[in-house]
Amino acid sequence: MARRKGDAGRGRDAHAEPLGSVSQPQSIVVPGTHACLRCGETELTRIRMTISGGRPAVFVSCPSCEQTNWFALDGDGSPLPREDVMGPGKQS
Ligand SMILES: [Zn+2]
Repeated sequence: MARRKGDAGRGRDAHAEPLGSVSQPQSIVVPGTHACLRCGETELTRIRMTISGGRPAVFVSCPSCEQTNWFALDGDGSPLPREDVMGPGKQS
């Protein structure tokens, strides 16, 4: 199910910015997302998304060690705990 290039014909925003701020500078770096917490890699994959509760966050994936973390846009650089991302969780 790998997403490959070639989707360009669909014409929908390739760089989807759900918050709709057209003036958002690309260079913005959310605290904690500059380098991999585990190995220090700085060429990270950063994906803006909205987590549980509608909170804007950045998902960070390290290509070197496959560490993944979420950071709140307005956070202090600490990775978000999983329950903050996924929500309170299902009562089983
Ligand atoms: Zn890493």
